[in-house]
Amino acid sequence: MIAQDEQIRVTLPDGSVREYPKGSTGLDIATKISEGLARNVLAAKVNGVVQDATLPINENANVQLLTWNDAEGKATFWHSSAHLLAEALEALYPGVKFGIGPAVETGFYYDVDLGGQPFSQEDFKKVEDKMLELARQKQQYIRKPMSKADAIAYFEEKGDPYKLDLLEGLADGTITFYSQGDFTDLCRGPHIPNTGFIKAAKLMNVAGAYWRGNEKNKQLTRIYAVTYPKQKELDEYLFLLEEAKKRDHRKLGKELELFAFSEKVGAGLPLWLPKGTVLRERLENFLRKAQVRAGYSPVVTPHIGSKQLYVTSGHWEKYGEDSFQPIKTPNPDEEFMLKPMNCPHHCEIYKTKPRSYRDLPLRLAEFGTVYRYEQSGELHGLTRVRGFTQDDAHIFCRPDQVKEEFMKVIDLVLYVFNTLGFSDYSAQISLRDPENKAKYIGSDDLWEKAESAIIEAAAEKGLPTVTELGEAAFYGPKLDFMVRDAIGRKWQLGTIQVDYNLPNRFELEYIGADNQKHRPVMIHRAPFGSMERFIAILIENSGGNFPLWLSPDQIAILPISEKYEDYANDLFFSLQENDIRGFVDLRDEKIGRKIRDAEVNKVPYMLIVGDKESAEGTVSVRRKGQGDLGSMPIADFIKTFQAEVKV
Ligand SMILES: [Zn+2]
Ligand SMILES: [Zn+2]
Repeated sequence: MIAQDEQIRVTLPDGSVREYPKGSTGLDIATKISEGLARNVLAAKVNGVVQDATLPINENANVQLLTWNDAEGKATFWHSSAHLLAEALEALYPGVKFGIGPAVETGFYYDVDLGGQPFSQEDFKKVEDKMLELARQKQQYIRKPMSKADAIAYFEEKGDPYKLDLLEGLADGTITFYSQGDFTDLCRGPHIPNTGFIKAAKLMNVAGAYWRGNEKNKQLTRIYAVTYPKQKELDEYLFLLEEAKKRDHRKLGKELELFAFSEKVGAGLPLWLPKGTVLRERLENFLRKAQVRAGYSPVVTPHIGSKQLYVTSGHWEKYGEDSFQPIKTPNPDEEFMLKPMNCPHHCEIYKTKPRSYRDLPLRLAEFGTVYRYEQSGELHGLTRVRGFTQDDAHIFCRPDQVKEEFMKVIDLVLYVFNTLGFSDYSAQISLRDPENKAKYIGSDDLWEKAESAIIEAAAEKGLPTVTELGEAAFYGPKLDFMVRDAIGRKWQLGTIQVDYNLPNRFELEYIGADNQKHRPVMIHRAPFGSMERFIAILIENSGGNFPLWLSPDQIAILPISEKYEDYANDLFFSLQENDIRGFVDLRDEKIGRKIRDAEVNKVPYMLIVGDKESAEGTVSVRRKGQGDLGSMPIADFIKTFQAEVKV
C-alpha cells in the first residue's frame, strides 16, 4: 500500500504544478480537474511517453491528458479499436488468427488469417454490428505483464503462429498482454480505458497482405476500418471521403480533358491537353499581370544549365546523385543538367551588370519549368511530378528591405487567394533553432533582422500564423502558405524563403551608399509552388466548377435542331469577337442530351437557340448552378457575361 501522505508533483501542459497522491492515474488527475475531462480522457502522456490513462504515476512528472483532439489520443483510440475488431472477428469466425493491428493515418487495420473462411464487403455490416455490441458492454482494457514463457504457452495453446513469431523478437520482462472481454492480445499498449468510448464503427476495405510484408510468407487478410466517438463524426468523415473522391483532380482532369499522362512520354511528366492549356494560360496571365503591378521583371532562362552552374550553387553536391543525370554532348568535356531550380540562372542574371543600392530590390520573375527525379512510388497526379513549372521569382534586396518585400509578397498571395476563392488560409513561420545556431550560415545579426522582419510583416498583414523553431533551412528563415479547401482539407502551397547562401556562392554584390561592396539578400518566392500543384488544388477545391474567367469552355451554344445551325454559328462568331470562348454543339442529339453533356463538362453558360431566339435575335440562357435566366438579346448576354468574368 502507498502511504496516504506520499505526494507527487504533476506539471500540466499549461505549466501549472499540482500535487496528487503517489500512484494516481491519468484518469484520477482528470477526474479532479473536471468530470467532463474524465469522460474524454483516452490516454496520458507522462514525461513524453503515451501510456494507459489507468496506469499509476509514481513519481514527479510532466503529464498531458490526451483526448480525441490530440493526434496521439486518436491513434490510441484507433489502435484500441483494432482490438475490438479482433474480438468481434473471434466471436464471428472461430479459429481466426491474428497478425498485427496498428492505427494508421485515419483509422486502423488488422491483418488476420481466417483459415480459408470467405470474407468480403458483404460481411462488413455483421462485423460492425458485433463491434458495437461489444463496445456497449464497456469492457475495460486490462494490462497484464507476462513472462515470455507464459506468453509462449498461451499462444501455443491458442495455436496462433503469428503471435508466436512476434514473441520471438521480444525480450523477457518487456512483454504485456491486454484483455478486454473474452479477447486477449499480445500488445505493448497503450489503450483507451474501455470499449465504451467507441460509438461508431465502419469497415472500409479488405486487401491481401503478406505476413511481415514478405511475399515468401503466407498472405493474410488486411481489414481496414475506422471508428469514432460519435456517429455524427463518422457520418461526416464518410461524406467528406465521398466528396474527395468526386473531386479527385486525377479523375476530373481526365473527364474534363485537362491533362493526361503517357507511359511512352514518361511517368510524372504531364501532358497539357488543349482545355487544360487554356486554363493554365489564363492563370499564368493573371499572375503575370499581378506581378508586373507588384514591380517584378519577367525573365526567361533555358531548361538546362552547365553542370558547373550547379556545382557553384551546391545543388550538384546535395542532390546530384538522386537527380536526372547529366546530359552529354559530342564534346567530352562538357555536361549539362536539366534544371532542378531556377535560382542559379537568376543569380547569373543579377551578375550581368554592376548593381547599386539604388537598383534594389531587383525582382526577377519566371514561369520556370524544372525537373526533379521523384521516386516512382511518390508520383501522384499533378501534385507530385517530375517536370513542373514554378511560379518562381527571386528578389535581390538590401537587408533593410526584407520586411517590406515580405509584406509585398504577402499582399500578392492574398490577392490571388481571394480572387480564386480560398478564404481560409494560414502560414507557418520557420525560424532557427536558438539552441543550435552553429548549424546555420549567415551572421547572427542578419538572422535576427530577417526573422523579426518576417514576424512583423506577417503580423502587420494580419496573416494567421504558427511559428516553428528549428524548422528554418540552414540558409535562412521562411514563411509557408497553407489553404483549407471547400471540404476542409489542408493543402501546403509555396514558400517565401530568405537565402544567405546563394549570394555567397555566386559572390553577388552591390555598391552601397557608403561606396563599399555589400552582399544582397536573396528571397526565393514561389507562392503556389508550381502551376501543376496549384491547378490540382484548384480542381479539388472547385470540383471542376472553375470561376468563369478560368473555365476552358465558358459557353456552349445548343441549337434545338439543325434548322438553327446558321444562327448558332453567327452567334458563336459574335461572342468570339467579344473574347468569349466555347463551342457550338452541332451533334444530331436531342436538346436534353446536349444540356446534360454540357452540365457534365461543367460549362458555366448554356445558350439555347431555337425558333423564337433566331426570330428575335435573342438567346435562352442557363447558368450552371443557377438554372434558367430566361431569354435575352445577345448584347445583354455579353454584358452579363463581361460583368461576371472581370477579375
Ligand atoms: Zn494494443
Ligand atoms: Zn529559388
